[in-house]
This record gives sequence, structure tokens and C-alpha cells, in this order.
Amino acid sequence: MKLVPYWLDTAEPSGDYRQTPVPENVDVAIIGAGFTGLSAALEFAQQGANVAVFERHTVGWGASGRNGGMATTGLAIGFSTAVKRYGEARAAQYFREYNDAIESIEKIVHDYAIDCDFNRFGKLSLAYHDSHNDGFRKSQELLARLVDHHVHVIPKSEIHSEIGTDFYQGAMLDPLGAGLHVGKFAHGLAGAGVAAGAKICENAGVTELKKVSGTVHDVHTARGITRAKQVLVATSGYTGGITPWMQRRVIPVGSFIIVTEPLPEDVVDRILPHRRMASDSKMLTYYFRITPDNRLLFGGRARFALSSPDSDVKSGEILRKAMLELFPYLGNVRVDYTWGGLVDLSMDQMVHAGVHDGLFYSLNYSGHGVQMAAHMGKRMAHYMGGDDDANVWRGIPNPPVPGHFGPPWFLPLIGAYAKVRDRFS
Ligand SMILES: Cc1cc2nc3c(=O)[nH]c(=O)nc-3n(C[C@H](O)[C@H](O)[C@H](O)COP(=O)(O)OP(=O)(O)OC[C@H]3O[C@@H](n4cnc5c(N)ncnc54)[C@H](O)[C@@H]3O)c2cc1C
Repeated sequence: MKLVPYWLDTAEPSGDYRQTPVPENVDVAIIGAGFTGLSAALEFAQQGANVAVFERHTVGWGASGRNGGMATTGLAIGFSTAVKRYGEARAAQYFREYNDAIESIEKIVHDYAIDCDFNRFGKLSLAYHDSHNDGFRKSQELLARLVDHHVHVIPKSEIHSEIGTDFYQGAMLDPLGAGLHVGKFAHGLAGAGVAAGAKICENAGVTELKKVSGTVHDVHTARGITRAKQVLVATSGYTGGITPWMQRRVIPVGSFIIVTEPLPEDVVDRILPHRRMASDSKMLTYYFRITPDNRLLFGGRARFALSSPDSDVKSGEILRKAMLELFPYLGNVRVDYTWGGLVDLSMDQMVHAGVHDGLFYSLNYSGHGVQMAAHMGKRMAHYMGGDDDANVWRGIPNPPVPGHFGPPWFLPLIGAYAKVRDRFS
């Protein structure tokens, strides 16, 4: 079994950027070569800016190369909660931003001919408790009325038309949800950015940011120093001590995935006949899909722990048991890959983007960042150019996590709470 992300193992890098010299001056320095950083770099380069991305590891090393490959509609908090919290007009605006985000990916894939198996397979949300179907029906009504967006609610009696398990009590199908090969997409984005003039410096972790004045910073990296007129922090769940204000606002939670060996066509047809992206309504959610080469990818917050080789193996064992609980007929199937990564939750599970003390940032995708990170990179290039309206998330209150100054000591408490809620809600 390989302890590396399937997506990165089955994608060809667009280049080797480990020796790219660190430039002395840039208009924009971007920290992090995930979807946020790479799509911002592409957009800035197209605008003619002198832009460099600094990545501690290699392109796509973070959550962008480690996720479930699902670019789906809707906010992390769900539409009904958004309506309750922000009112109808703002909830509708935020919901539309997610649809726009999937369109952003579709456009980038088309414009730069990125071969990454992008397809609007549709997204299945699965009810763990019967009571969760009420939430689906409420969302269906609100989405149709407020954003003219149409989803289908599927009763338990018809669920086998969509999925080969009796584990769930019903489902909601959104036909606009998409899936893609995120390794190929990350490398494609990097290649398009470099072709447009962006520089990518891998193995160039940023060790210190020294403010010169306003938004101008000296960016100290492991391979040299750059003076940047603007800096974009795009470090997601890997946000660390060089940006302490942001670190206090990111809760890094481990999410883990296993991928099976390639499966026969008839088995895949039984699991997910329409190849939908799927996730369930538990707090400790399971999410799964079929990969382009017919493997089952099965993920979840198996444990509230950070990712490490030991942690990934333990989580992989828990996930295999969970997979067999749903699909007992996979008992003899080999697991080929196990890995984990960090999701960047926030206190309110909303995206937070803007500028603080001269540093720009776009963070807190809360497990819904495949589409939104790629979209926000582009949006931030416009926001940083002076277009405030390009950032719909500005102005959402962004308090720090109480008591959070470094490693997230409180994860086991959140995990215990989630288990209790899944049992009794
Ligand atoms: C297991 C898992 C499953 C997920 N599944 C889904 C899904 O199916 N659908 C969905 O929408 N979202 C999903 N997500 C979330 C999604 O992947 C992320 O929200 C998104 O990829 C974030 O992109 P990003 O570019 O902002 O950050 P990342 O891709 O995490 O990139 C941040 C980068 O910053 C680098 N970095 C950090 N500090 C420094 C420094 N000091 N100097 C230089 N570089 C630095 C890191 O090395 C990293 O490469 C999942 C996440 C995980 C972990």
C-alpha cells in the first residue's frame, strides 16, 4: 500500500521548479502552491504582473493534491443555515459564488486544455438519520425559491437507483456537482501559470515576513529573499507561525482517504451507477467517488487528529472498516493508497479573505475548497488590484479561535463532540 496521494502518484508534473531562482523583486509574492496560489499566479501573470509562488514542498503538496476531487455546489454550512445566519439576499449571493466557482474550474480546464477528467457527474448528499431528509426538503424548497437552483430529493425506497448500499435513509441529488483529477488539475494550473510568465519556486518555504511599509514586504525563503509590493497568503490548513494572526483563525483538521485497486465495471455500476460524487450528513462525514480508472476513493474524518504516516495508516484501517460497512461486497478488495491532509476549518465554517496588516489572504474553505480555492485565487488577483467587489467574503466577522496559538490541542474535544452528535442528532 502506498502512503502517497493517488492523485499526485498518477499525474505528471508540468515541470521541476525546485531550482527556479528566487527573484530579488516581484510585484506579487504568493505563499503556497495549491489551487489558491496557482490560480492567483495565473491570473496575475495574465494581467502582466511580475509574480512568484513560494512553496515549501512541491506543487499540489497540500490539500489541493490530497482531497476527494469533488467540486460541488453549496456552502460548507448548508443553504438553510446560511439563510438563517445571513438573510436571504446574502445567502443567495454566497450560494451563487460556489456555482461560479465550479464554472471557474470548467473555464480554466477549457481555456488551457487541461486534461483532468473534469465532468459534471452530479453530487449525492446522503441522509445518515431519517431526520436529515427534512433538511434536504427544506434546502430543496429554499434553493428553488431563492436561487432558482433545482435539486432532487430521493426517498430511501428509491435509493438503489443511485447507490449500492442500505446504510442511508435518503438522498439529495444536485446535478451540477463535478468531479476532476485534482493532481492533473494542479499540475495543469502550474504549467499554464508558468507559460503566462509566473515563477514557481518549490522547496522555498517562507521563513519570515518583514514588513517594509504598507503592503510591501521582504519575503525570506529557504532559498533567498524577495521584496514584494504585495503578498498573498494561500496556505490553507498549513498556515503557520509566520502569519500568527491567520494561524489563530485556522483550525487544521485531518481528513483521510483510502483508494482501492481498480474494480470491475459491474462492481462500480453497483456502488455508484452514475459515478456521482457522494458525501453523507454525519458530522464525522464519509465522502466517496469513483476515480477515472474505476477505483473507489473513500474518505472521512476518521479521527480528529493531524495527518502523519502513523496517523494516516490508523485512519486508513478505520476507513476500510467503514467502507465495508457500507459496501460489504468489497471484502476481498485491496486498498492501494492511504493518505491524509489538513482541512482549514474556521469558527463559522465560512471562507475568509481580505487584507490584514498589509498582508492579503484567502483561507478557511472548510472542506469545500476544490472549487472555491481555484476561484478565489482568480478573485484575489482582482481584489488586490483594487476591485473590492471581487471578494464577496469581505466583511464577514473573523474572530480567532479562543486559546489557539499553535498546535491545535483542542481537536480531541471537537472529535468527541462530533461522535456524540452523530449518535443522537
Ligand atoms: C483529505 C482532504 C479531502 C478533501 N476533499 C475535498 C473535496 O472533495 N472537495 C472540496 O471542495 N474540498 C476538499 N478538501 C479541501 C480542499 O482540498 C482545500 O480547501 C483546497 O485544496 C485548499 O487549497 P489551497 O490552495 O488554499 O491550500 P493547499 O492546497 O493546502 O496549499 C497550501 C500550500 O501552502 C504551503 N505552505 C504552507 N506554509 C508555507 C510556507 N511558510 N512557505 C511556503 N509554502 C507554505 C503548503 O506546503 C501547501 O502546499 C479536502 C481536503 C483534504 C485535506
